[in-house]
Amino acid sequence: MGLLSVVVPCYNEEENVSLFYGELLKNTSFLKEKGIGLEIVYVDDGSSDHTVMEVKKLREKDESVHLISFSRNFGKEAAMFAGLENANGDYVVIMDVDLQDPPAMLQEMFACLEEGYDSVATRRVSRRGEPPVRSFFARAFYRLMKKISKTEIMDGARDYRLMTRQMVDAVLAMKEYNRFTKGIFGWVGFRTKWLEFENVERVKGETKWNFWKLFLYSIDGITAFSTMPLMLASVVGVLFCIIAFLMIIFIIVRKLIFGDPVSGWPSLVCIILMTSGVQFFCTGILGQYLAKTYMEVKKRPIYLIREKI
Ligand code: UDP
Ligand code: MG
Repeated sequence: MGLLSVVVPCYNEEENVSLFYGELLKNTSFLKEKGIGLEIVYVDDGSSDHTVMEVKKLREKDESVHLISFSRNFGKEAAMFAGLENANGDYVVIMDVDLQDPPAMLQEMFACLEEGYDSVATRRVSRRGEPPVRSFFARAFYRLMKKISKTEIMDGARDYRLMTRQMVDAVLAMKEYNRFTKGIFGWVGFRTKWLEFENVERVKGETKWNFWKLFLYSIDGITAFSTMPLMLASVVGVLFCIIAFLMIIFIIVRKLIFGDPVSGWPSLVCIILMTSGVQFFCTGILGQYLAKTYMEVKKRPIYLIREKI
């Protein structure tokens, strides 16, 4: 007995909604044998195409299809949060609608839960079909995160993850506005089994992420799960003070011994430029955290619903 909720964030995915539905049903027949029910929660993230209509068409045929439609585009993080909040299942799985999260893995994932894991996560071992520049920076991001954050964030981790109700409730208890789900999953802990798969390209449509969006998202991730950059500002400040102190001593001694006037204002200009650059950089880091704190303090809702079926 039990219920599995499938949370599916969709943003302008009219072509994929029913394709996904078909594939999902094909791969979840094993649930019946176990006597587990299925519900599908499509979260429309303010699509401007016919995504909502496509979901409603499915709903007419199948009562287990649910729709949450946002008042505007709030982003995938908000869509996942809304999906989790509105899922009734004893088990919840988050899946992309573009079939990049292979439904064929569900049976294996379920078997892992039965072994006693609280959560089964997936990661891509290859990034085939992705622009090389994007892969390079993605890898660099995960390497950096490993160094500066205590929270475990796996390289190539997808949001495709099956969780027990207990873990879902833990994730929902984290009400932060700046959400970085990959970090949140790591932060809440629980026994997690990692499954690996080869990258699959999306069936239809285009990716919603460009380089700039991903860059901003990575800043979200860093500020949400590490305060190391703030530390960096202090370290650089102290370092520069030490260097300045040594230089002052050097110049005084030189003056006393050789008595020559200090020449060379070009070097001085360079030093001033560099130190002010470092100052701006550090103020920028502070600003990032301040901005995130500002948004957090406002306590704005993470998403707004326009329609719910
Ligand atoms: N998505 C969303 N809101 C957004 C952007 C994307 O709900 O603002 C959904 C999208 O419909 C898809 C999933 O998030 O189901 C992953 O998006 P996409 O395939 O564009 O990302 P990629 O797989 O390229 O990382
Ligand atoms: Mg995708």
